[in-house]
Amino acid sequence: MSELNGKVALVTGGSRGIGLGIARELAEAGARVAVVGRNAERAAEAASTLPGEGHGGFACDVADAEAVAEMAKAVEAEVGPVDILVNNAGITRDNILMRMKDDEWDDVVNANLKGAFNTTRAVTRGMMKRRDGVILNVSSVVGLMGNAGQANYSASKSGLHGLTKSVARELAPRGVRCNAIAPGFIRTDMTASLTDSQTEALQNQIPLGRLGEPEDIAGVVRFLAGPAARYITGQILAVDGGMVM
Ligand code: NAP
Repeated sequence: MSELNGKVALVTGGSRGIGLGIARELAEAGARVAVVGRNAERAAEAASTLPGEGHGGFACDVADAEAVAEMAKAVEAEVGPVDILVNNAGITRDNILMRMKDDEWDDVVNANLKGAFNTTRAVTRGMMKRRDGVILNVSSVVGLMGNAGQANYSASKSGLHGLTKSVARELAPRGVRCNAIAPGFIRTDMTASLTDSQTEALQNQIPLGRLGEPEDIAGVVRFLAGPAARYITGQILAVDGGMVM
C-alpha cells in the first residue's frame, strides 16, 4: 500500500535512530522525504538510502529559528511543499537538579521544544493555505512520568505535549492535524550507553518485556500521518511496551 504517494514529509533528526526509521517507513508509504540533521553528510547519506526517489538531506540546527526558516525554503524548492512534519530531533544532557548547569537546561529545551516550535511555525502557513497537513511530535514517556536526572529533558517533552494540543486546537479548523507519539525506551545511539544491568532493570518495568526498536515507532507514525488517522488530533500516544497505562 502506498497511502502517502505524492506527499512530502520533513523529518527532523531523520539521519539516525528513530528518525531514520520514520523516514524509511514514510518513504515506503510513498512519500518524498526531507531528512534534516545538524550533520550535512549524515543527512544526505541517510536520504540516499531511502526507498523511492525525490528525497533530500538538509543540514540545520532546529534550535536556530533563522536556520530553520532557510531550511524550510530549501525543502520546499528542492523536495516540495511539506504535507507531513515530524518533529523528532532531540537530545539529552542529563544531570541531577542541584548540579544541572544553565547550558544543560537551555540546550535541551532549545533543541527539543523550541526546535519543534521553529519548524512548525516555518511550515504551517503552506499547510493552512492548502487546508491539509499533519504535524507529529516525538516526545517521550518521560514527558508523561518524569524521570530523576532528566528535569530538562522531561520538561521539554511535557512542553511538547502542550504544544501538540495547542497546535491541534488552533489548526483543526484549517484542516491540519497535530499529534504526539511518546516512545518508551528504544534501541538507538541515545540509549546505547545503558549498561546490561540498567537495560535489565528497564526491561523489568516494561510489560511487553523488551526495549523498543525504531520500527516500533515508525509504524505508528505512518498510521498517524495517513488517511486512516483522519479523525485523530490533539492526542499523545504512548508507544512504550505498556510502561504507561
Ligand atoms: P539519536 O539516535 O540520538 O538521534 C538524534 C537525531 O536528531 C539525529 O539524527 C541527530 O542528527 C538529530 N539532532 C539532534 N539534535 C538536533 C538539532 N538541534 N537539530 C537538528 N537535528 C538534531 O536519538 P533517538 O533515540 O533516535 O531519538 C529521536 C527522538 O526520540 C528524540 O526526540 C528523543 O528524545 C525521542 N525519544 C527517544 C527514546 C529512546 O529511547 N531512544 C525514547 C523516547 C523518546 P545530528 O547529530 O546530525 O544533528
